[in-house]
Amino acid sequence: MRLSGITPSGHTHLGNYLGAVQRWASGRGPDDLYFVSDLHAMTTTHNPARLRARTSEVLAILVASGIPSERLFVQSDLSRELGALTWILECTCSYGEAARMIQFKEKGSGQPGVRLSLLTYPVLMAADILLQGAAEVPVGEDQNQHVELARALARRFNGTYGEVFTVPRAVLPPAGARIRDLGDPASKMSKSTPDAAGVVFVLDEPDLIRRKVRRAVTDGFTGVEYEPADRPGVANLLEILAGCRGGHPADLAAEFSSYGALKEAVAEAVIEVLRPIRERTVELLDDPGELARIRKAGAARAAERGEHRLTSAMRLIGAGA
Ligand code: ATP
Ligand code: MG
Repeated sequence: MRLSGITPSGHTHLGNYLGAVQRWASGRGPDDLYFVSDLHAMTTTHNPARLRARTSEVLAILVASGIPSERLFVQSDLSRELGALTWILECTCSYGEAARMIQFKEKGSGQPGVRLSLLTYPVLMAADILLQGAAEVPVGEDQNQHVELARALARRFNGTYGEVFTVPRAVLPPAGARIRDLGDPASKMSKSTPDAAGVVFVLDEPDLIRRKVRRAVTDGFTGVEYEPADRPGVANLLEILAGCRGGHPADLAAEFSSYGALKEAVAEAVIEVLRPIRERTVELLDDPGELARIRKAGAARAAERGEHRLTSAMRLIGAGA
């Protein structure tokens, strides 16, 4: 079973969609699970109302993209179970192990008022994984070390107190699965980029998508070819086109003789892929009752799935009735 999460740290973008959500919706295993990791969006300064709105938005996008609602849940709806398991795992983890996390060092070092949760969130992530008994966790390079921590904690708990947890492993996305920022092809498209000019959001209107794609950074070469190392901007556009239409970027390159024509085709392909998702998402966001029902059912199923692991872990570690 695979478990994947998406953090509502910003609006969901085309990279999230093509690199993750679209694959999730096309389905791998019948019991794979997907969740909106809203508790992970609170490790740095955050705005409560915005977080709540983005959580609903991400959930609606996941449903609108065709992920069956029985495969979905919102992390904070399991905060009791996850809080309890996080504590058990914190008591299984050394301070040094947590402080060694590269993400903590990168995001936390030298910042005033660093939240303790920035140090401990990899342990919450371990709880997300271990509570559900996930065997595989698809993650980008940046999260690999956190899955390694979850692995180490599962092994240590099982070895010290008794076998409870499935030992998870990270599965890395296929090469070339990273969509890049249209304005800065050296960086991946990201929710937390301050300048959104190079980020296409799933809920962007068609005209805005056209404008963003037209302004995409290319290069001074002539002709359209797929050369990711030397021509990253154009390669990114071809990869986006391939993600929307299918096919291989190198084959698609042959269809175009100018960057203008390529950009036109990319914009229209993105608009067509995102249109039904945007429309369905807007409908869902207008129907809070339906979203609330989906959340409630998802939370109940996810809590039930994890309950025996939490109860066993509590008992083995010497706590609980
Ligand atoms: P943040 O900048 O806050 O980390 P993010 O855009 O990286 O946001 P995540 O919530 O970390 O989004 O990731 C959600 C999913 O989207 C993960 O499966 C991740 O691998 C995938 N993903 C994120 N960015 C891209 C991208 N540019 N191209 C392809 N997949 C992506
Ligand atoms: Mg990320």
